[in-house]
Parts: sequence; C-alpha cells; structure tokens
Amino acid sequence: MDIENKEEQQVEESGYEDVCFVCHRPESKAGKMIHLTKDICICSECMQKTMDMMSKGNVDYSKMDFSKMPNISMINLSDLQNMIPKRQKVKRKAAEEKKEAKKSLDIRAIPAPHKIKESLDEYVIGQEKAKKIISVAVYNHYKRVAAGAQADDIEIEKSNMLMIGPTGSGKTYLVKTLARLLDVPLAIADATSLTEAGYIGDDIESVLSKLLAAADNDVEKAERGIVFIDEIDKIAKKKNTNQRDVSGESVQQGMLKLLEGAELEVPVGANSKNAMVPLETINTKNILFICGGAFPDLQNIIKSRLNKSSSIGFRADLKDKYDHDKNLLRKVTVEDIRNFGMIPEFIGRLPIIFTLDALDEEMMVQVLKEPKNAILKQYQKLLALDEVKLTFTDDALMAIAKKAMEKDTGARALRAIIEEFMMDIMYEIPKDDNIGQVTITEDYIEHRGGPVITMRGVPALGMQG
Ligand code: ADP
Repeated sequence: MDIENKEEQQVEESGYEDVCFVCHRPESKAGKMIHLTKDICICSECMQKTMDMMSKGNVDYSKMDFSKMPNISMINLSDLQNMIPKRQKVKRKAAEEKKEAKKSLDIRAIPAPHKIKESLDEYVIGQEKAKKIISVAVYNHYKRVAAGAQADDIEIEKSNMLMIGPTGSGKTYLVKTLARLLDVPLAIADATSLTEAGYIGDDIESVLSKLLAAADNDVEKAERGIVFIDEIDKIAKKKNTNQRDVSGESVQQGMLKLLEGAELEVPVGANSKNAMVPLETINTKNILFICGGAFPDLQNIIKSRLNKSSSIGFRADLKDKYDHDKNLLRKVTVEDIRNFGMIPEFIGRLPIIFTLDALDEEMMVQVLKEPKNAILKQYQKLLALDEVKLTFTDDALMAIAKKAMEKDTGARALRAIIEEFMMDIMYEIPKDDNIGQVTITEDYIEHRGGPVITMRGVPALGMQG
C-alpha cells in the first residue's frame, strides 16, 4: 500500500469524513466528493452549480464561502492548501459511531482482578477482603458475559453479590467507584421503596428503568450494567405476622426472577407500568446485581450460633467470648442470613457474600486525606484557586475522626463535620487578599481557638475563631 493510500485509510478509520469546501456538508450528506487536490474536495452538487454558473457567465461568488481565501480573484489552489487544515474533515455523527460500537464486550479488554483492585485502592480505604472479592467476582461476571456468545454446554453461574457492612463503611461508594472504573451504567435503588406490583410504591421493575436511564436508554448497554440494591436487610421476612407481607418476603419473591435472569417489560422513564408509559424489554441475564445492607442484629444471631456451639461441654464458660469481637460479622454464614429473615431462594441467587468492616479512627483519617478525590484534597483545590494553601495538622485530622466516630454513621459523618467549620474558612478567607496559608488545628476543631493564618511573606498569626 502506498503512503497516500495508507494515510487515507488511517483517516477513514479515525472516524472522520470529507466535507465540501463550498457548502460544508459532510460526505454522508452531500454524497461522494470530488477531490480538487489531495486535501481539498467539493461535492458534486456544488461542482455542478459552479459549472452551470460559469457556463452562463454569471458567476455569483457571494453564494460561495470563500471567506477564508486571500484577496484574489482567481483561485490559486496551492494557496488554499496552505490555509486549511491538513485534511478537510469533520467527525462522523455520533449515531453512526454508535452503530459501529455495538460490538460485544471484548474478553481481553476486561481488566484482570488485581488491576481492578489496584484501581479501587486509589479510592476506597481499607476493606481489603471486600475489594479483592468484588474484583474477582466482577472479572468473572464480565468474562461470563463475554463468553456467553460462544455456544457451550457449561454455563457459568451469575456472580450476584450480597454485601454486608455497617452504615458509612463504603458499600455504595465501592459499587459507584467500580461502575465508574469499568465504565458501565449503574442504578442504585432502595429496597425499602420497592413493593410487589400493584401496591403503592415502586414496582420491582423500576430498578431496571433506572438502569436504562443511566445507559441513556440504550438497552444493550443497560443489559451489561450493574444494579445496586441498598437496604436489602429491610425486606427481611417479618417474624410472627399473619398479615400479608407487602414489603418483605413478597418483595424478595418478586426479585427472584430479576436476579436470576429474565426478560422483563420495563417502563421507560417511570416507576410503574401504566397505559401511558412506553415499555422496553430488558434481559437481566447479564446484569450484575449487588445487594447491600447493614443487617443490624445479625451480629447477635452470629454470636448466639457461635455460643451455642461452644457451650457444649467444657467450653461453656466462654459465653462472652464473642461479645467484644470486632470482626464477628466476618463469621457470617448463609444460615445466619436466613435466620435474619432472608428467604433461601433469595440468598441462593446471591452466591457471593462478603462483609465490610466498620471504619476505625485511623481509617477515618485516611478517608479524609488519601483517596484520589479525598474531601481534604477537594477543599485544598478550592482554596488553591484563590492562591491560598490549606493544611491540616495531624491532631486536627484525628479530632475530626473522633467526632465522626461519635456519630455512628461511619465515614458519612466526616463530610458534615468538615463542612461545618470549612464554611467559616471559605467565607472569611477571600475577604483578605494577603492571606497565603490557613492551617486547621485541633484547637479550631474543638472550638478552643482559631485556625493559624499566615499572611503572604509574614510569619504565622492566630485568627480569632
Ligand atoms: P454505605 O456503606 O452506608 O453505603 P457509603 O458508601 O454511602 O456508605 O459511604 C459514604 C461516604 O463515605 C462515601 O461517599 C465515601 O466518600 C466515604 N467512604 C465510606 N467508606 C469509605 C472507604 N472505605 N474509603 C473511602 N471513602 C469512604
């Protein structure tokens, strides 16, 4: 292949197409182009018009867009070549590109589990085991999706997951980060809002409507997405009730076919089906479902199971052995989850079960400063735009972490605490152009003093808090 042809092919492959030099329409609209030189082309319609005008002797140059041309009456093609970009091309329309992009997921493009975990490490603090399990599960899931196209007798089981961890331990954050890294659509739903079809609340299919919306109504994209159903523990079977259990067991029942893989009619842009809403069919076979919940009381269930087994024989005296076990949740079994009130069919469709640990003070400090988009980094960037350096002493970070621990809502409390005192900083600092640095101290966090303010070129001063 000669160089010119090669270049031509490269341009073709890059998704660009020729545009007419006169009317600016792309080749897809104006038809095949006639090349005047290697880089300049004109559509056949404009060419015809030009010829017609010239043959009639009444050339109307005002109809042509020669605005970029030098002030000459004769077109000198070699001049033109110097004026326009190397190639007179426009990017092809997105719709055309989409058509081309609709290929099945490439098995080689799925990052290996250790790569997925490495990326998660940049954002999520701690939770090593959870990150490892989720990386492998997601890798296997997408491998299964990619292999699905090949006819084979062995069908790989779906790797839906159940994530158990206290509030603010990063369940939602982990899933969000994962979906972003993999560039797949994500829908987050709350199990408490779901009801069996026909009851007041969102139909179970509504989670798929959300997914479809997240995939810009592209069904194929949605069918490879992730659905995160939070607060799954809230649909546990209620004990000792004779009434019809609208929000608990029957919702679990209703979710079974969703989790397993079925073709479902999904309302587009609404939470429930009715005559006015268009429907779209979605197959959930390749959608990854991740359920998450705090499962309060699960610890007691685990404890009593463990105590029961250890109270036989001589070890009966160790009854309080597990009372202070911080990692008790890690000892969870399917049996415990069933005792909690999840029905066996439901648990059976979530084969991967793992737990997240509650964050301790040290992890809280790390959450503040280490993730790629850490909250401190965000504030530092905001102030840097005003050319002010923001720093935090280690004691200050520890004090913030301590305050957050008291709230018992995990890392969620951090943002609220920081926002409370950063509010004053963000208000006061821009008042004075001479401020060069602000240091947040423990005293400031504990309301015992102000932050340390350093003026540009002047030693540190205390600000009245
Ligand atoms: P939940 O477990 O209740 O779903 P979230 O995932 O919503 O908790 O966490 C709330 C916020 O706390 C997140 O947006 C994130 O900024 C922060 N966070 C929680 N856990 C972690 C973690 N392990 N690493 C980094 N940030 C975290």
